This record gives sequence, structure tokens and C-alpha cells, in this order.
Amino acid sequence: MTVVGPRFVFVTGGVVSSVGKGIAAASIGALLLARGFSARLKKLEPYINVDPGTINPYKHGEVYVTDDGGETDLDMGHYERFTGIPTRAIDLLTTGKVYSSVIARERKGDYLGSDIQVVPHITDEIKRCVLSAVEGVDFVICEVGGTVGDIESLPFLEAIRQLRNDLGPQRSVNVHLTLLPYIASANELKTKPSQHSVRELLRTGIQPEFLICRSSHGFEGETRKKLSLFCNIPEPHIVDAPDENWIYQIPLNFHKSDLDGALCRYFSLSCQKVDLKKWEELVTRFQSSRNTVRLGVFGKYAHFLEAYKSLQEAIVHAGGAQGTKVEVQWVETEDEACVQAALPEVHAMIVPGGFGSRGIPGKLRAIQYARENKIPFLGICLGMQLAIIEAARHLLGLPDASSTEFGETPEPVIALMTEWMQGEQLQRRTACGNLGGTMRLGAYPCVVRPNSKLAGVYDGKKEISERHRHRYEVNSTYLERLEKVGLCFSGWSPDGDLPEAVEYTDHPWFLAVQYHPEFKSRPFAPHPLFVHLVQAALRKKKGAQ
Ligand code: GLN
Repeated sequence: MTVVGPRFVFVTGGVVSSVGKGIAAASIGALLLARGFSARLKKLEPYINVDPGTINPYKHGEVYVTDDGGETDLDMGHYERFTGIPTRAIDLLTTGKVYSSVIARERKGDYLGSDIQVVPHITDEIKRCVLSAVEGVDFVICEVGGTVGDIESLPFLEAIRQLRNDLGPQRSVNVHLTLLPYIASANELKTKPSQHSVRELLRTGIQPEFLICRSSHGFEGETRKKLSLFCNIPEPHIVDAPDENWIYQIPLNFHKSDLDGALCRYFSLSCQKVDLKKWEELVTRFQSSRNTVRLGVFGKYAHFLEAYKSLQEAIVHAGGAQGTKVEVQWVETEDEACVQAALPEVHAMIVPGGFGSRGIPGKLRAIQYARENKIPFLGICLGMQLAIIEAARHLLGLPDASSTEFGETPEPVIALMTEWMQGEQLQRRTACGNLGGTMRLGAYPCVVRPNSKLAGVYDGKKEISERHRHRYEVNSTYLERLEKVGLCFSGWSPDGDLPEAVEYTDHPWFLAVQYHPEFKSRPFAPHPLFVHLVQAALRKKKGAQ
């Protein structure tokens, strides 16, 4: 029988959250690509928010921005990094989005007088989104956020149950990820929570065909047998997923458990040869560093690193590419004593993106120190805005210089831009607009000034494209004065209106950008800004020795 259309791999999770469902889905994607198939990854998020743009990163981790301006979940970053396939705003479906579109249609009268119900109206909308925009790919990997048993997940699981019937087993499979807790007194990994989790999934009408079991130790025959018996899953479909220090090792571990081979057999696909050489090389490269540098990241969520996921990964990629272990010191800038103590310790610094006025003096102090002491420095988004404020205060002699984001100021060197062009279209935002709708979001082109440091970083490219997520911009009325005190604006929007990058010519390596380079760094293609920062840190370390 010929199968028409993509096959769907639904990834659900149970027992507890944070077991690594996103990385599991991304790794399945990587393995299918390594077998020569094409794939797309999607995420279904049960929370009621329309997107995570307004969720505190301290609660939900980083907001990952797609090229097309979607504010999405941090797992989408894993998908891109593991597969290299750019994700799109529509690849994240939330309860908020589903209900918004169903309600909008109801208001237009599209439901012809019927009363709107979870089944079929909400589930139909979920199914429509899962099935849409996947033409031409061999596989769609669709992760369901949250944990089986959450109230919010129910409509999504019901939609998947229906989809599994619509598509048939030839085109759909469910992979369930659970945790096997280790009980020290019994010296045993416990399977009971996984059994309960599968039972909970069964209550929604879904019998998983595969089980991935995360554990601290890994397991052998007896545990596998038990899981197979009680969860009604064939033994070869039970995948051992021991804890791993390197997330990029996980596709290789899954392969060792033959997950990709078993998936191919499940779908009756002739097993194409798998090529994992690049993954093996990557892991070896990342694990064998010749040098070490210390990098200070002066931020606000320093005690919750999920808020800086892409940044963390971009640093790992750049270090790996340079055979250098980058020891990151996450410095909480609200604690000024902590900032002060960290400054002389590091070979390079980053001030990352952020929102709000908390911790700003500490960040400004770090920037001033980097400028005056010639420490390699990368400012990202808010980090660039603060680099401008620091220059205005200390070089231009405007002690009140600030951003209107932090309150009223007589010297608004950073201010809300109300209009700008995106391609041919005029975009507008207002200070009182809804929060989600007032940002410059997604990929924008940036023209690079020839012979600048930025041009060196981007290999002499004249125009680049990077992703944005911010409300405020450099106020153009201060540009000339800032240039006079040594700032060089080396990146511009193509119309020449918005500065995108700034640097000091008399500093060994000080670059600040209005965009977020970390979103586009990949393990196999580290972002050049981070690579150059690590190189500058290595030079700094050598010079200091
Ligand atoms: N808060 C700043 C703005 O909205 C910077 C945002 C960011 O760093 N992503 O413009």
C-alpha cells in the first residue's frame, strides 16, 4: 500500500516535566534527517497564552524568535539547532491561538448557528493546524507540551487520538517520554510512574508505540521486560535514555538504542543507511578542548539559565569551534558587589538582551569596565542600548542619558520608535499598544559598513539578516554626537534609519548589536559573533599571562 503525505511522530511526556521532551523530539528529527528523510517539527503548547511573548522567562524559559517574527517556545530553538531547519511562527500552536481563531470564526458566523464545543470545534482546529503547511516532507514530528494528565493538554491529546484514526498506523506513531526515578535504598530504577503515565495516556485513547525512558543510570533487560509487559509496548521499542552532559550526544544515544531503525521498521520504510559521522565529530570536538577562557555574562535571570538557552548554546558552539572550553560566569547584575567582584576575573563579557529596569546599574558598570579596560565585549539588544547609554553618560557628559523604557528622562538616547519600514510595508507601534504587538520582531536585513569590525566578523558580507525582538531603538538625534566621541555605527537598516550595530575603533574587540545573534547559532555553524568573541577572549588571556 502506498502512503501519501507525511508520517506523523507525536511526542508526549509523562511523570514529570523537564525530562527533555523538546530535545527528544529534536533528536528524532536529527536521526531521520541523517537517514536521508526530510522533516518538520511542530509544538503544541497547552498554555492559554497566545504565545510565550508575555510570559516571564523566569517561569517558562527563553522566548525563541523565528525568522518570520514568531515569539515561540525555547524548544523551537532545540529543533533548529538539531536539524538546521528554520521553524516558523505557525509551528507553535497554543491553546490561546486555537481558541482565538475558533472564537474569531464564531463571531463571523462561520459555524452556522451551532454551539461551539471542544469536540469537534476545538479539536478540528488543532487537527487543521497540525496538518497544515507540511507539504512535501517525509515526517512531521509534533511535540505536545506539558505532561499527560494536565487539564490543559486534554484537547490536544484528543485531537491526536482522532488524528491517529484519520491517518492510520501507517502514518502516525506515538512516542512517550517518561522518567524512571532511582531509589537509592533499593538501588533500583522504578518503572511504576511510567506505567501510570502510559495508563493515563490510555485513558485518552492513545496507546503509545514507543517509550523513551530517561533515567540517571540507564537500564538493562529486566527493567525493559517489565516496562514492555506493563506498558504494552514491544521491547525493541523501549529506548534507554540515560542522563547526558552533552545534549548533542543524545541523537547518538537514541541511535545506539536503535530508535531510528525501529521507527523505520514501524513505518515499513526500507532502512536507509544512517550517516551520523558529523554528530560523532561534533561531540568529540566539543569534548576535547585545548584552552579555557572565562566569560562573564552580566544579566538578570542569572539564576535561571533556561531564560538564556540560545545564548548558552551559542557560547558552547563557538567554544567548540575554537577548541576552547568557555567557563561562563553568570553574574546577577542586581547584586552590584557580585558584579564588581566578577569584573577582574573574566577574559570577555556579554551583556545579553533583557527587559525592564532591574539590574541596569550593574550592567552599565560592566560595560564601562569593558570599555575602559579593553576587555572583549559583546552587547546584545538591551546590551547594545546600554552600551549607548554608557557612552552618552561617560563620554558625552550626559549623566541623565537613559532609555525611555526605564522611565522619563531628559536625555532619551534610547527611545520608542513609532514607525519603521519592513520591506514595502509601514509598521507602527504605540507605547500603549498591546504588549505582544509593539515589537520589532523577526528577521531584518542589516547593511554592514565596509572595513568595520562587524564586516570582519561577517567575512566582508555587505548585507546580513538577523532576528530582532525589541521595542526601543537608538535615538537618531544623538548619533552625530556619539560618533564624535568614538562610537562607530557599523550596521544599519537598509533605509539608513536604524542603527543595528555599534563598535569602538580604539578598542580591541567591543561590538554591540541590536539583534539577537544567538538565535541563529548552530552546532554545525556557530555564529561568527560568538566565535570572534571567544578568539578575542583567547587573545586577552594570552596578553594577560
Ligand atoms: N528592552 C529592550 C527593548 O525592548 C531590549 C529588548 C531585548 O533585549 N530583547 O527594546
